[in-house]
Amino acid sequence: MSQLTNEEWYRIFDEADDLGISFILLAGGEPLLRRDVIEAAGQKKNILFPIFTNGTFMDARSGEGIYDRLIQNMDELQKRGLIFGASVTVTSENVSEVTSESFLNELSERGCKAVIFVEFVPVTEDSQHLAPGEKEREYLKNEIARLRAEKPEMVYISFPGDEKSSGGCVAAGRGFFHINSHGGAGPCPFSPYSDVNIKNTSLREAIHSPLFMALQSEGLLTDDHEGGCVLYEKREQVEQLFKSRSRDLARDLRQRS
Ligand code: SF4
Repeated sequence: MSQLTNEEWYRIFDEADDLGISFILLAGGEPLLRRDVIEAAGQKKNILFPIFTNGTFMDARSGEGIYDRLIQNMDELQKRGLIFGASVTVTSENVSEVTSESFLNELSERGCKAVIFVEFVPVTEDSQHLAPGEKEREYLKNEIARLRAEKPEMVYISFPGDEKSSGGCVAAGRGFFHINSHGGAGPCPFSPYSDVNIKNTSLREAIHSPLFMALQSEGLLTDDHEGGCVLYEKREQVEQLFKSRSRDLARDLRQRS
């Protein structure tokens, strides 16, 4: 299926505005590759649009490499007085480095106002060892509590660590859902199953997709799990639900036609 057009993004943002949605995170890939989407977002005054970008498309300057370019872009953002934060992927190998004083002091000095610690979620067997285990998650939780107390100049968000305080996973329309660049609506970027496409349905209907409803009613979002991402951990159950809901949907469509 083709990418969502500028007009389709406009419609999604309009419908979100009508539904009272106030926060739409533009993430990628690299969302700044879609200038038309950024411009469509700029028309909506009631909605906050944080952008998850690697910063390399924010201006035309080039540096020695990506890291240098990111540092340059942070300096530029600070110079222009813009609010920005950093998203940091936490793995079993870097957890102590990314919560270290030296790393966070550098971000703070460059004007960073928020750090989002995103736990690495493996999607292949050979990257399983990078996923933080119980010990690293406990370490991260304690470090974030310490940072919140000792370095309040920045906001610290832990994903999915902070979900415990929201009573579990907030995907699948429970708190948010994900729309990919081709219009597929899925529970979360970490659970990429989609049984509806926003090209063919309204935003309101997408939020009530058969898969989302099943995930909520079957209690998967709030189910006990080891930690990390519940929908990844229970991906076999999610896949089964997805397949059975897709079969139901196909049968309904056949009966209607
Ligand atoms: S699907 Fe996983 S990563 Fe996404 S919100 Fe739920 S627990 Fe968090």
